[in-house]
Amino acid sequence: LLSLICCSDSKIYRIRLVLENKLAIHHSSEVQTTFIQSENLIPFSSHPHPLKSILLNEVDGYLGYCKICCQRIEGVSDDGYGCKECRFYIHKSCAVFPYELQHPSHPKHLLLLQLHSWEKCANCNSDQFDFKYKCPHCHEFYLCPECAFLPLTKKAENHDHPLTLMQKLLPFKCYGCKDEGNGMFYFCSTCSFTVHSKCTSLPLIVRLPTIQNAIHSHPLTLMLALTISLTCDACGNKTKGMFYFCAICSFVAHLDCALSPS
Ligand SMILES: [Zn+2]
Ligand SMILES: [Zn+2]
Ligand SMILES: [Zn+2]
Ligand SMILES: [Zn+2]
Ligand SMILES: [Zn+2]
Ligand SMILES: [Zn+2]
Ligand SMILES: [Zn+2]
Ligand SMILES: [Zn+2]
Repeated sequence: LLSLICCSDSKIYRIRLVLENKLAIHHSSEVQTTFIQSENLIPFSSHPHPLKSILLNEVDGYLGYCKICCQRIEGVSDDGYGCKECRFYIHKSCAVFPYELQHPSHPKHLLLLQLHSWEKCANCNSDQFDFKYKCPHCHEFYLCPECAFLPLTKKAENHDHPLTLMQKLLPFKCYGCKDEGNGMFYFCSTCSFTVHSKCTSLPLIVRLPTIQNAIHSHPLTLMLALTISLTCDACGNKTKGMFYFCAICSFVAHLDCALSPS
């Protein structure tokens, strides 16, 4: 939806509002110091030159990366907005990001799209995005554009169930990479696991809630990704995240150990 330009009055107004704000941000003194301090190679002149809609394939030389989405700008295929003097370019599709954003991860205040180089996203920790959604009231709350618009549901490869986004910043255990996370995550309500957004492309194998296996005489029950670590009774190593458990004799086994024939 974000990349569509709707012709209704409100949308046009909104896009114009965004551009005017970016224009103001782009040529504010804050930006000047950021550019001058961080990158002497970028020529920056202090006189105002508005971001114009330009055909990027008419721009000579290297276009660099879009200041909003951080993806390479391929001049041949993309239109965009930019300032040739500053080599400051953004995709046309990225210009429709709303200026104001009410996001469930920060329900108290409205977030505003602003230029903040080097500040880390509260969700993914990345600082590669120049534009971020910033809370004007809270000292250091930023969301990168990617995290601000994660899809609410996602179909992971190799997983039978749809994943749902938790739009809150919470500590969790990732089922994919097994690391601990702190931020938004996807979860499968059928399998009761949580996973990083970036790890939804990993194979997320469906685990049966109860298994009967040769490794143990009683049926084993799948336990949720607790933050405590137990010792696997099959291999002797520590568990991380989910494990199989026998309630009768407190037998603990890694997912793989419970399923391996031994
Ligand atoms: Zn872009
Ligand atoms: Zn400029
Ligand atoms: Zn982010
Ligand atoms: Zn706030
Ligand atoms: Zn992960
Ligand atoms: Zn599932
Ligand atoms: Zn084990
Ligand atoms: Zn048992």
